[in-house]
Order: sequence, then C-alpha cells, then structure tokens
Amino acid sequence: MSQRIQSIRGMHDVLPAENARWQTLERIAGETFAAYGYEQIRLPIMEHTGLFERGVGDTTDIVEKELYTFEDRGGERMSLRPEGTASAVRAGIQHGLLHNATQRLWYAGPMFRYERPQKGRQRQFHQFGVEAFGQTGPDVDIEQIAISARLFKKLGITGLRLEINTLGTPAERQIYRDALHAYFSAHHETLDADSQRRLDRNPLRILDSKNPDLAELIAGAPTLTDYLGEESAAHFKGLCDGIAALGIDYTINPRLVRGLDYYTRTVFEWLTDDLGAQNAVCSGGRFDGLVEQLGGSATPATGFALGIERVVALMEAQDVPVDDIAPHAYLVYQGERASAAVPALAESLRDGLPWLRLRVHAGGGSFKSQFKKADRSGARLALVFADDEAEGDTIQIKPLKDDRDQEVVALDRVAERIASLLDA
Ligand code: ATP
Ligand code: MG
Repeated sequence: MSQRIQSIRGMHDVLPAENARWQTLERIAGETFAAYGYEQIRLPIMEHTGLFERGVGDTTDIVEKELYTFEDRGGERMSLRPEGTASAVRAGIQHGLLHNATQRLWYAGPMFRYERPQKGRQRQFHQFGVEAFGQTGPDVDIEQIAISARLFKKLGITGLRLEINTLGTPAERQIYRDALHAYFSAHHETLDADSQRRLDRNPLRILDSKNPDLAELIAGAPTLTDYLGEESAAHFKGLCDGIAALGIDYTINPRLVRGLDYYTRTVFEWLTDDLGAQNAVCSGGRFDGLVEQLGGSATPATGFALGIERVVALMEAQDVPVDDIAPHAYLVYQGERASAAVPALAESLRDGLPWLRLRVHAGGGSFKSQFKKADRSGARLALVFADDEAEGDTIQIKPLKDDRDQEVVALDRVAERIASLLDA
C-alpha cells in the first residue's frame, strides 16, 4: 500500500465536530466588531516578503526565523502572512483609505509562522484582527480594549487577565534601549545564546524571552516608564484612567514588550491560566509609525489580534454554551414511491422554512439503521416518509429528544408543525 499523505506538521484540519465553537466565535466576533462601527476588510494571505521585512521588523523572530518565504514561478520573493497588520496598512495606503480619514477595520483568517508546534502553537493558526487608523488616542486604545473585553464577556469566557504597558515613542525607546544594552552587557555571561544575539540588534527583545533562567535578570532590568516623556506619560495615564472608568481590571506589566517591532506607546495582552504555557489569547497596541514606514503619510494607528485556536480552546476548557449547528430535522424514507418524492419534498420544506437545517438520509438501509443515524446527527426531529405516507400525502414526525408521541401530519401542514415543535 502506498503511504498516505498527511497534513503538514503544525497545520490542522478543523473537523465538523469542532465547528460549533468556531462558528459561535465567528458570529459573536462579527457582531461585536459591528457594535463598535468596525468594517470588515478581506486581505490576501500572501504578500511581497519586503512588506513583512519593513512592516513587522527584520530583527523580529517572526521575520528572522518564522516566515514562510519562497519564490513564485516568476522569481518573485513572497511570503505567507505571519500576521495581518502589515497587510491592513498596505491595503489602507494602496487604496487611499487612510488619507484624511479615520478608518476602523477588522479581518479574520489564517496566519503562518514556522514555529515549533505544540499545544496552543501551530504553524497555521487563525486570528481576528482589529485596526483603527487616524486617531492618536488614548480613547481609541481604550475602545479596543473594551471591544476585546466585550467579546470575551459575550462568549462567556471568564478569568482572563489584562496586562498593559507603554513602549513610549521611538526616541524614548532609543534612550531606553541604550540603558538596557548597558544593563544586559554587564550580565553578558548570564544571557542565553538567543539573548546574546539580540543584545546588539534589539535588546528589548530579551525582555520577551521565555527562558525561565533569565527571569530574575529580566526582572532587575531598567523599565521604560523611567524614560517616558511628558506626552507619552500623559497618554499612558489617560489609557489607565479610561480602562479603569469602564470597570475593566488590569495590571501594568513593565516587561510587556510584544514580539513585533512596530508598536509605540500602548501595548496590551489578555492572558489566561487555563491553557498552560501558551497563555496569550489576544494582544495588541498602538503603532503610530508603521503607516509612514510603509510609505504612507504619517497616520496614527492602533489594533489588536486575537488567536482563534486559543480562544476556541478556552471555550472548550470553560465549557461555554455554543450555537446549536446540528440539523433540526433528519428525513428517513423507504419505498419506491416515497423515494421518488423525497427530493421535491425536502426542497419544499426548505422553501417554507428558510432557517431549517434539514438533513436527508443517504444510502438507504432499514428504518432502524436510518433512525440510528438520525439520532447520531443530533437532530431534534425525525421525519418519516414511506410509501403509505407518500400515497396519503402525509409524513410522520418523531421527536428524538423529548418523549412526545410520533404524529402523522398532512404534507400541507408539515412546515407549520415542524416550526411549532422546534419552537417548543
Ligand atoms: P506568543 O507570545 O504566544 O508567541 P505572539 O506575541 O507571537 O504570541 P501575536 O503575534 O501578538 O502573538 O498574535 C496575537 C495572538 O495570536 C496571540 O495572542 C495568540 O493568541 C495567537 N498566536 C500567535 N502565534 C500563534 C501560533 N503560532 N499558534 C496559535 N496561536 C498563535
Ligand atoms: Mg510568537
């Protein structure tokens, strides 16, 4: 037997049985973004590699180690997107959406990073992204934290912690960078190889290290708050006060630096204790320099991305109620005359009840085996149609989930009866 082809490591199928959670999240996220006036934008999953090198930062892990890059047949270097912000900015500039206008956008879709696959970390994963352009904040930063908080509340997810920090302006960060460089240089031999490499290129990245051996050293490092100018300090205070005024709990984590280079001032992250090591479910912040860096005119911006797989895993861990996506009704049938009438009967039911999820049995078999499949489908009703029914223009309805009697219903009343049984 030839070997079967498997999916690529770190890239997963989402099977029908897992989809109730995905669909519930997709519905509630779309409703939540709309509730704040954000509009959806659909972006390509591939871009010129240069967009990510310039947009995400060529000293970030994402670009240095994790990008899926290849040459297409025309010899052009392109990459699967590792995140959506660079594309959103590129699209905003390209289509003139950002010029003298405020824009509030959201998108969803797969992202690709060549990471070590483990629980909560895939090579293809999915995100919702939210971006606002043209506002200096902090009101819009607060709005986006409110959006994420409301999304979690609507989903019924609890126990998330919000951490915030400020990264100041690039100028403030430069001074801070020098201070960090001096501090870590003095402890050079304690650093791991990764951090030693980062020391000269981007010492802030050391703060983001996940190596527990470095935790103590990192805890003793200078913090950016000591290097903030007046405006950045006021922005951060406005942010803190605004979040508190909405009754959202948060803690300030001066070590929160985020894995992308483009952030300025506000950064935030929602964390959970329910998923093990991969504990960040949503993260974002302000990126006032990015539009200009990618060739647009200077435009302030702020956004966040939410990891769909991790939120879905949380929905599962916390057993939150999800939309019922099982069929409402499962049609079982037998006999020549009945079989011939089934397709038109099913279509007329779908005409009459446009919301109805009706699965028609396929593959024949005894009523007993058909009923087994009806039960397994999760349907609340079985519709039973044999030659007797076909001849008498009736159908039988058998409730599968409550002990109500099976009943015979005239075909011209069946839609109405299904509706009232499902409503009960
Ligand atoms: P982490 O610190 O876990 O690597 P990150 O800082 O790289 O996260 P972002 O780039 O900010 O993450 O992406 C936003 C969200 O996307 C994360 O909070 C997380 O929920 C999710 N995410 C990021 N990378 C992955 C991945 N490889 N697999 C699954 N989800 C991911
Ligand atoms: Mg990462």
